Amino acid sequence: MTDFHIGRLAVIGVGLIGGSLALALRDAGVVDDIVGAGRSIENLETALELEIVDRYCLDPVEAVHGADLVFLSTPVQTFGTLAGQLLPAMKPGAILTDGGSVKGEVIRRIEPLLPPGIAFVPGHPIAGTENSGATAAFSTLYRDKRCILTPTPSTPAAALETVRRMWQVAGSEVVVMEVEKHDRILAAISHLPHMIAYTLVNAVGSYDHFEENILEYSAGGFRDFTRIASSDPTMWRDIALTNREALLEMMERYEKFLAELKEDIRSGEGQKLYDFFLKSKLLRDAIL
Ligand code: NAP
Repeated sequence: MTDFHIGRLAVIGVGLIGGSLALALRDAGVVDDIVGAGRSIENLETALELEIVDRYCLDPVEAVHGADLVFLSTPVQTFGTLAGQLLPAMKPGAILTDGGSVKGEVIRRIEPLLPPGIAFVPGHPIAGTENSGATAAFSTLYRDKRCILTPTPSTPAAALETVRRMWQVAGSEVVVMEVEKHDRILAAISHLPHMIAYTLVNAVGSYDHFEENILEYSAGGFRDFTRIASSDPTMWRDIALTNREALLEMMERYEKFLAELKEDIRSGEGQKLYDFFLKSKLLRDAIL
């Protein structure tokens, strides 16, 4: 039993992230009314059928009327425009929070728009899959995962506590982190791997030395490695553009390591290659 309670929750973007939060809170019995908003009526109808939302509005401004908590879970480049529309319609004392994968740019876009009496708590659940839309949502997505919150000096302590409790109820361990640290860590452990997976699929997929499509020969290794290249292109375009500096820095670091590896292969440095692969294996084994 928990004493945590939300009267009305508005989820803007009822996809994997927003839909899963709605389902987790519904399963925990802590929310009275869940209103969804989004772009296509098809996805919102699906969300209604799957009982992710109690009702939906095509107009996000209508969806936030009377909401105690508004969760933004659309692609990050939409946040500024959406916040500009939603914030004036939110009731005094309500909280706006988000699940966007980038935090610095999101805060720069939303904080200047905040009217008095509305709190903004920037957040990012470290959980996901390569699937999108309401059909991809499931109630246990956040269980035993982390959720990072990146409050700023303007974030009211009470609102931070409410959002912390919300993620705990959804099953996550909440970590409060400084914004720049979040964006650098995520550039390294999430955004860079996605860029590499997309690049690998394109590089191999465009190899036309043979008449056949060589991707048809791909098996476990290639498929495991590139699973995340099936992720939504709009979402990843937005992440790449809004976490540009940290991502470019990590891509340069990666290029340096790849260049060294190429050089060791070219010059037949067997021991160096062995040491490099062993070091990597030990680092990866340790995180599993
Ligand atoms: P998703 O499954 O594609 O859901 C996004 C939803 O937003 C879709 O239902 C879409 O509606 C709606 N939408 C898109 N553009 C919109 C707009 N301009 N106005 C209103 N609604 C709009 O994506 P997701 O994976 O849940 O990601 C949502 C957010 O969570 C992103 O900011 C992402 O960076 C972040 N995030 C993702 C993951 C992950 O692994 N996927 C992990 C952590 C955080 P339609 O279906 O009608 O197009």
